[in-house]
Amino acid sequence: MSDNLAENKATTQCRLGEHAVVIGGSMVGLLTARVLSDYFERVTIFEADTPPDEAVPRKGVPQGSHAHVLMAGGADVMRKYFPDIHDDLVAAGAEYGDPTLNWRVSIGGRWTPRIASGMGTYVMSRPLLEAMARKHTVAIANIDSRVATAVSGYTYDDSKTSVTGLTLEQNGETIAADFVADVSGRNSKASSWIKAMGFASPERSNVGVDVGYVGYVTFEVAEPPGNERDWSMLCVTQKAIPEDTRIGGIFYKEGGRYLVAATGCHKDYAPTDWPGFVAYMKELPYSSVYDVIKDLQPLGEAKVYRYASYLRRHYERLQDFPKRLVVLGDAMCSFNPVYGQGMTVAAKEAEHLHACLQQCLESGGLDKVAQPFFKGAAKLVDAAWDGTTVEDFRYPQTRGERPRGYGLAKWLNRKFFALSATDDEFGVAFIKVLGLVEPPESLLKPKYLLKALFARMPEHDREPSFMPEAIQAEVKLAKV
Ligand SMILES: Cc1cc2nc3c(=O)[nH]c(=O)nc-3n(C[C@H](O)[C@H](O)[C@H](O)COP(=O)(O)OP(=O)(O)OC[C@H]3O[C@@H](n4cnc5c(N)ncnc54)[C@H](O)[C@@H]3O)c2cc1C
Repeated sequence: MSDNLAENKATTQCRLGEHAVVIGGSMVGLLTARVLSDYFERVTIFEADTPPDEAVPRKGVPQGSHAHVLMAGGADVMRKYFPDIHDDLVAAGAEYGDPTLNWRVSIGGRWTPRIASGMGTYVMSRPLLEAMARKHTVAIANIDSRVATAVSGYTYDDSKTSVTGLTLEQNGETIAADFVADVSGRNSKASSWIKAMGFASPERSNVGVDVGYVGYVTFEVAEPPGNERDWSMLCVTQKAIPEDTRIGGIFYKEGGRYLVAATGCHKDYAPTDWPGFVAYMKELPYSSVYDVIKDLQPLGEAKVYRYASYLRRHYERLQDFPKRLVVLGDAMCSFNPVYGQGMTVAAKEAEHLHACLQQCLESGGLDKVAQPFFKGAAKLVDAAWDGTTVEDFRYPQTRGERPRGYGLAKWLNRKFFALSATDDEFGVAFIKVLGLVEPPESLLKPKYLLKALFARMPEHDREPSFMPEAIQAEVKLAKV
């Protein structure tokens, strides 16, 4: 545990209330429970699903069969709250390393620089990360977890201004709580539940990208014979032109397995039969993924995840909101998953909740958490949402509300991509922003802006040369 956090826990524990409840026991619900455990005597997580003991996909999180990238910014937060998770993840087979070295990624038609950045994160399956987060959460003495227990609504006081707990779906039992965190995922009913209390529903930003009628298509494959790889993740994304709609990648997964994934937006469907899927990979701007998989056979049928749009609920814009309630994770904003931001932004929201609770402790009690929480969380969401939504709107078919300053942001994005192709220092700074380690403002330095003004995107980039040391490179654990 970092010194600050240890000190914080010792001085604040149990001070804000007796009982806090968390709706949803997935990645972000677990982290939220961990945060709340510093401020409440006891915390109960209510999870509709029955998460298995093993690291395997589960019904309540259908996206768990698909590759999940954990950005370095998210890995830092996980280690801050679960200091021993690093050793457990690595022992269970996760690969830890510097993403600018061991992620071979082509973004917008160019390969990201392969020079050490000092960042560190893991490549593994999503179920492994969640299983480890669960192990470390339930080990905390004042956290209780009730599985197979769906929540059907909030309870509230007579004046309908403050949430006082929740109701369970199975038997209508009510559970009293001083504080409720709704972390129930994209299909969260929080907006209709607060409406039942007389509050307005939040405005929505709904961006339609039609990531294939068949959505994500993922096959699992075994270790290729004699496999020599210099990556934990190898991914070819679209060129920065409206005609290019495809992404393909292969992702290491613990147990000597790999996930091979394809997405095509605006109904450029990836086939679900293996020969068609392999042919789809051949047509990407670089043949790198195709070259790895062309002689392999999948270990089973394709897994498919469909979605037409991604969704942000603007709780920060509401004038009034129930006291003693917050909504976070996908329940507040589910991003376009192809950019791999969801878990990391949500982890930062949980960290921000920690700061807001500390503030309440010092200045005013639980009634004042919601507004500062949503204002700060919106900034965290903006940092990821604005840059990637700009990318999605380069397709004329994309539906929805364009981000603020769209024209300028699109121009700047193009210039930044171009500069990152030729300037290693900027390339690393750029990846740190994409990895949600540094804020977007860190790129707005005069020296970068001046260079960006004259930067031109190379016509065609060279594939990086084989670099076996990339996945063995010792990466110091970042200080959290
Ligand atoms: C195909 C796909 C690929 C993705 N890839 C990435 C990636 O590469 N990197 C990344 O960071 N993110 C990725 N994401 C996003 C990521 O999965 C989410 O951001 C993350 O899971 C959000 O976690 P959460 O805890 O908020 O919600 P969820 O993981 O959706 O969990 C919600 C939980 O709430 C429970 N629940 C729901 N309703 C109730 C109820 N009424 N009562 C009790 N429990 C309830 C559910 O059972 C579930 O366990 C991807 C998403 C998709 C769809």
